[in-house]
Amino acid sequence: MDTLLAYDNDEHQNTFLNTLRDGVILLSDKHTVLFANVSAQHMLGLSEKQLLDKHFEDTVQLQADGKQISGSQSPVVKAHEKNGIYSSQSDKDVKLTMARADRSMLSVKMTVLPSNSSSSNVAFIVIFHDSSADEKIDQAKSEFIALVSHQLRTPVNIISWYVEKLMNEKHGNLNSSQATYLDEVVKSNKRVTDLVQAIVNVSRTDLNRLKHKHEAVDLVDILKRTVAEIKPIAQSKNISLSTHFDNDTTTLNDSDQELISTSVKNVLLNAVRYTQDGGGVKVTLHSLNATKELISKSGQVIEKSGYIISVSDNGIGIPDEEKQQIFNKLYRASNVQTLDVTGVGLGLYIAQNFMQELGGQIWFDSEVRDGATFYLFVPKE
Ligand code: ADP
Repeated sequence: MDTLLAYDNDEHQNTFLNTLRDGVILLSDKHTVLFANVSAQHMLGLSEKQLLDKHFEDTVQLQADGKQISGSQSPVVKAHEKNGIYSSQSDKDVKLTMARADRSMLSVKMTVLPSNSSSSNVAFIVIFHDSSADEKIDQAKSEFIALVSHQLRTPVNIISWYVEKLMNEKHGNLNSSQATYLDEVVKSNKRVTDLVQAIVNVSRTDLNRLKHKHEAVDLVDILKRTVAEIKPIAQSKNISLSTHFDNDTTTLNDSDQELISTSVKNVLLNAVRYTQDGGGVKVTLHSLNATKELISKSGQVIEKSGYIISVSDNGIGIPDEEKQQIFNKLYRASNVQTLDVTGVGLGLYIAQNFMQELGGQIWFDSEVRDGATFYLFVPKE
């Protein structure tokens, strides 16, 4: 783009910029508008005349997560200060919106590039991408996935129900081959059930349909039941699965059974999956005091009172360079991809979103080849 800007105010440059679907605004070093392409005018609902020579920060009103961005927080000021590129995409948790002339808000992604062209007085190139269309497509995809996964639940449950009936042998005895085949049906159907449930959970998260139930729960009871569910898998790998529950009152009056048990189950299942045969996994419910100490050691900023559930294993661990990504949807670290382990990379994404809905937090420590410990902070209220 700098080469183009060498032709300051050149007709070719403007024609080219006017063909772009993204909004482009060229600014002077004083942040006044030198040029705004047709898309930028449409997106802002302002004419070229209304934009030219105006100060960018006075003319383009931006909000981050619904809060007005003040002068010093302006993306152009940020790019100016660091003499580098500003990109709203690098901060994917922040939703950037831009006010249009009719006061409606438009979701945008924004990039500000400094221009070092010596032959023009353009100092900054501001590019806006209208992300509302992308959001609509994402929403439609999530709706479709939610619908399909809900529809799949019923037939999968019916298969389980009939297979169970056959296995009870009330309708006739099974020979050993039939029993073996049915065993395989049960295992595969369990995988489908788990996958469908994971997809249902992801679409609930993505469509903002998670609901914190605000109910009373007993943490020890949840942990005992989750451990009992995973125990057979641990036993099949000869992994010792131990528990330690600190002596405290662990009834929470304003919590959510499903959000906690699904998060713990996903983390515990991973600990068993990513630990070699014969290894060990430990589930601990820490007391209020022990939780405070663990939080201050971890460097996490948590001001509420609550309990930490930790799940530690002595398995394969997580490589340092991949630690940032493991909560991302569908991410699986390189050291698990060669293992003969089923998994699709949704468990931690779900656990993180469920813990956030609960007002809690999840994090981990790990040394590759030395194991991992996941911490789930559950607020008391
Ligand atoms: P998956 O279905 O692959 O287990 P998750 O979202 O639950 O998906 O986990 C994402 C990735 O994080 C895993 O594929 C694995 O690379 C890594 N991971 C999670 N838990 C552990 C653990 N306890 N030990 C080693 N790696 C882990």
